[in-house]
Amino acid sequence: MSTQSPEFHLIQTYFKHYAQYDDSVALGIGDDCALINTSANTEQAISVDTSIIGRHFPADADPYYIACRALNSSLSDLAAMGARARWFTLAISLPTMDDAWLAAFSKGLFAAANKAGAQLIGGDTTKSDTLTITVQVQGEVAKGTALLRSGAQIGDTVYVSGELGNAAAGLALYQQGIRQGRLYEAYINPQPQLVLGQQLLGHANSCIDISDGLLADLSHILKASQCAAKIDANKLPLAKEVLDQFSQQQATLWALSGGDDYQLCFTSAHNPEQLKAQGIKAHAIGEIVAGTGYTVENLSDDIQLQQRGFDHFYEPSIQS
Ligand code: ADP
Ligand code: MG
Repeated sequence: MSTQSPEFHLIQTYFKHYAQYDDSVALGIGDDCALINTSANTEQAISVDTSIIGRHFPADADPYYIACRALNSSLSDLAAMGARARWFTLAISLPTMDDAWLAAFSKGLFAAANKAGAQLIGGDTTKSDTLTITVQVQGEVAKGTALLRSGAQIGDTVYVSGELGNAAAGLALYQQGIRQGRLYEAYINPQPQLVLGQQLLGHANSCIDISDGLLADLSHILKASQCAAKIDANKLPLAKEVLDQFSQQQATLWALSGGDDYQLCFTSAHNPEQLKAQGIKAHAIGEIVAGTGYTVENLSDDIQLQQRGFDHFYEPSIQS
């Protein structure tokens, strides 16, 4: 079930194809972070993400949360590798210099940074009509231990770290003017699963963070690991708050294809009890099998599965 993604085609054709690496690069383009050999025992994990007003966050969002969201979504890529957050840089393009806005933004930025243990070490400030925030994060992980998309094994159980679809539901409610509650929080202030990511080192065979929707991101694991997955729709962790306000079908669709949850999806040879014994709490939702792509079992017939999650260059008209 994988159609070519225009965004990944672009990255492959114009960037990855020409990238050449020397011995300093342990892992280049293609995973949640790049890995750089920094010392005999440590690799540095690096990732960068851009948030654009009106596209990645609503124009009327609280600047405190615009900052939290931009930093946390970037830190989520460190979590996906099992890396410890250490440093970040911030490039911000602003239409105006609004002190009240900047004060709230700064407060949110440092609240999120301090919680994660990430230190702001530089950046760039420019004027632009379009508010744009780019956060580059850097973390550390013991050499050779990072969680990769490419390590899934046939027979692994597929896990997710928490409820899925909350951010999509929170966005739908936001658009109706609801700016409070757990679903709003899930959308506006997603939490990077940094502690869990580090706990998973040595216990997970593959991992990715769910930024674009479970099926879209799981597909990256499947492609990188050259295997398939069977997912059980009945096992998806759905929030009571979502089920109370939306149909089961809508909740399931959001869990499978909604973006912005920033939970981890990982595969492990361990069963849930074995993980629990390690202090790892996660929901088993399926298994890795031979083949390509994914199948979703126990899906009611009236759910039209979107075959892809968020893709910046996706045009419905060119999908066959
Ligand atoms: P994520 O969702 O984890 O942030 P992406 O889907 O954005 O990852 O990107 C997939 C891979 O492609 C990552 O390894 C990322 O670093 C790389 N990538 C994305 N855009 C570019 C680019 N313009 N040049 C080089 N590498 C890129
Ligand atoms: Mg990612």
